[in-house]
Amino acid sequence: MATMIPSIGEKRGKQIVYTIEECLGCGEKNKRTFTVGDYVFKQNGQCKKCSGNILITMIYAEPIKPTQ
Ligand SMILES: [Zn+2]
Repeated sequence: MATMIPSIGEKRGKQIVYTIEECLGCGEKNKRTFTVGDYVFKQNGQCKKCSGNILITMIYAEPIKPTQ
């Protein structure tokens, strides 16, 4: 007898994590992939445009859409 089993194991919850950096001087935003050591409100260098401080303002994950 064939039984319909919910395919729980097929849940492909792959996600990619992004880091958003923002310059406090000019508001320039930059989106890049997350690297280990990133955290929100970490000071992350100087802006190339205005030499203002760049802070990480957001870290979030986006699901990877399967290409089929
Ligand atoms: Zn700036």
